[in-house]
Amino acid sequence: MSKATHWADTYAEKIIREKGDKELYVCASGITPSGTVHIGNFREIITVELVVRALRDRGKQVRFVYSWDDYDVFRKVPANMPQQDTLADYLRQPITLTPDPFGTEESYARRNEKEVEDLLPLVGVEPEYIYQAGRYRSSTYAADIRKALEHRERIREILDEHRTAALPTDWWPISVFCTACNRDTTEVKEWDGKDGISYTCSSCGNEERLDLSSTPAVKLFWRIDWPMRWAYEGVDFEPAGKDHHSEGGSFDTGRRIVKEIYDHQVPTTFPYDFVRIKGRGGKISSSSGEVVSLKDVLEIYQPELVRYIFASTRPNTEFAISFDLDVIKLYEDYDRCERIYFGGESVNENRAAKERRIYELSQVDKVRATMPTQVPFRHLCSLIQIQDGNADGVIEFLELNTDEEDLKKIRTRARCAWNWTRQYAPDSFRFALRPRGSTPIELTEGQRGAIGLLRREIEQNLDSHDEKSLSGAIYTLAGEAGMEPKEFFKLVYRVLIEKEMGPRLAGFLLTIGKGRALELLGGY
Ligand SMILES: [Zn+2]
Repeated sequence: MSKATHWADTYAEKIIREKGDKELYVCASGITPSGTVHIGNFREIITVELVVRALRDRGKQVRFVYSWDDYDVFRKVPANMPQQDTLADYLRQPITLTPDPFGTEESYARRNEKEVEDLLPLVGVEPEYIYQAGRYRSSTYAADIRKALEHRERIREILDEHRTAALPTDWWPISVFCTACNRDTTEVKEWDGKDGISYTCSSCGNEERLDLSSTPAVKLFWRIDWPMRWAYEGVDFEPAGKDHHSEGGSFDTGRRIVKEIYDHQVPTTFPYDFVRIKGRGGKISSSSGEVVSLKDVLEIYQPELVRYIFASTRPNTEFAISFDLDVIKLYEDYDRCERIYFGGESVNENRAAKERRIYELSQVDKVRATMPTQVPFRHLCSLIQIQDGNADGVIEFLELNTDEEDLKKIRTRARCAWNWTRQYAPDSFRFALRPRGSTPIELTEGQRGAIGLLRREIEQNLDSHDEKSLSGAIYTLAGEAGMEPKEFFKLVYRVLIEKEMGPRLAGFLLTIGKGRALELLGGY
């Protein structure tokens, strides 16, 4: 089987081709933790991770670095954060010096970072984190900053080629955080050609001379900072959002700056597209209030499904993550992919090879030796509601003869089904069995008779029915009771779940089980 059919394999081979056969490849990704990291940002992380895996599958050593650009400026208070007024006081200061509005982490940046760092291992993503505030504040990049100052004119020319208005003559490739008020509202006055930089601050009037080799206050602008770090880490591969990849965008200028100023080759790259959200409403941008994060997605998709969604879509295509009925379809697609992998369903060899590779890349850990027990998501939606959200109750009901690893995954899936039915499923999916000991609902004599017929059928024949035969029997019973089937169904749903609609009745009754069904239909 050729591994080159999957996009992650294609890119892994491209990296090897472009960078040569190396001991170690450096793959990079990064973001500014200026708000909740949303699922669109996650696309970059997972895209790199899939390529990293493809490289490792070829026996290559890979360093996967994830850069938190936490020495960036706090520009806007996101609408989904508490303490809006307090946060507003920190605008123009580094996000690493902005307090956590929830009061539990050491900074605003750290809160957003931690949220992601805690979740990524769940989906099998474990990069090496680099904290840029720490790097800058300990003057790690002093020599690289000085190099940018030395090549200030050349950098300006490169940037100006892509600007409509030229940069001012007194432009510098750096920004300075005022050491008195922490804001970047400063103006560089002079550079002595070595390590001496002086500035004035328009917020507090501070004037000062800094020593580049030891100051924590100087930082390169993004368009220089990015290529500088490609060189510093020896990055071989880094994709970027399509906005960065536009003509004259930061990748374009970075490409020239890394070669001309920092003497390093351009990383292999490609643009990845945006992720939309379907069936939930709202935008996913971190600057608007409505933010869909990895955490939100993991509430309805088990980790393998999250990987599957991204692994089965080419990174340069825009797509939507669904919270609506398509959730069921995605779970079904994944289960089919799993059956194809284990030979439980046959398709043509081309498709099978493709599905097998997607399945491998979707696993958080190694692929298991035998096929995991499959419990369809749709079925779990009913089971978990019958068990009132208790995943262990579902496991008990299913009487599965399988190992703990399997059970753990089924439990997770059951919890996802519960969250989905509670928050996003159409109303017709949502139900709660009438609680034990509640007063029977009021019925007419004729209705009581109809329920009696169903009760008798269940008592005598449920054990021998499958969904199809029970369904046939229910139609016959409706006729015997002198009711239209539709009317009969409504009546039964009212008695079972106090609603006029519910899951397909025959399957539902089988799922509820004889004992509980008789309890619910009793007393009429
Ligand atoms: Zn100041």
